[in-house]
Amino acid sequence: MNVAHIREPHTDDSDELDSTPAPSGRLGLALEAFLARESRAQGPEGEWREGLWFPSTNERRPCCEGLQPTPANKQALESHCRSAAHVAALFEVPVLDLRRALKRARITHEAAPSLPANSPARSMTNTERLARVSRAALSEALDILRAEARQGAGVLEELAHLDEESAGDLAATLKAAGERLKLVTQSLESASQMELVCRVSEMALGKVRALEP
Ligand SMILES: [Zn+2]
Repeated sequence: MNVAHIREPHTDDSDELDSTPAPSGRLGLALEAFLARESRAQGPEGEWREGLWFPSTNERRPCCEGLQPTPANKQALESHCRSAAHVAALFEVPVLDLRRALKRARITHEAAPSLPANSPARSMTNTERLARVSRAALSEALDILRAEARQGAGVLEELAHLDEESAGDLAATLKAAGERLKLVTQSLESASQMELVCRVSEMALGKVRALEP
């Protein structure tokens, strides 16, 4: 999956919470998601089956393999999906980078007189920021998908009318078509990933808002 293009959107003035710049792009998203999962403002995507929790296909990453919930630890995978290792895998960032960003974020929060990490107001801030950042990332991913799809449509059209005799260097034509369609697939995967992140964070935001007095 190629999500390297995702940048943090412009933040408005009300978002100036810290003096140190927050990490941007995928790392920023991973950090927000980790904090939201840690504060329980948000949970991983998954379902209960016969009393045991399992991550959804979208949520599942190679790091989840080998972990099995048991009657004694029904939420083994749910806890794992809140871990830095899993969140790092989900956003395709090195876990060390996430841990470092997390440490910096905690130091910044400790230095500034702020709300305790688990207060509803703090988790609401994280949830709102995550929802906003993921919405912007989703729009950007969809823009890229539309552009790639338009180019891919041309390639498919060409392939649909491929003439074996006059196709010059057939190998090169097929290779180029493959490369182009790979880009379409990548941008499609990226958009799906962002749609999931966006949907989950908006669901979490809805829950937090429902709790507001
Ligand atoms: Zn995992």
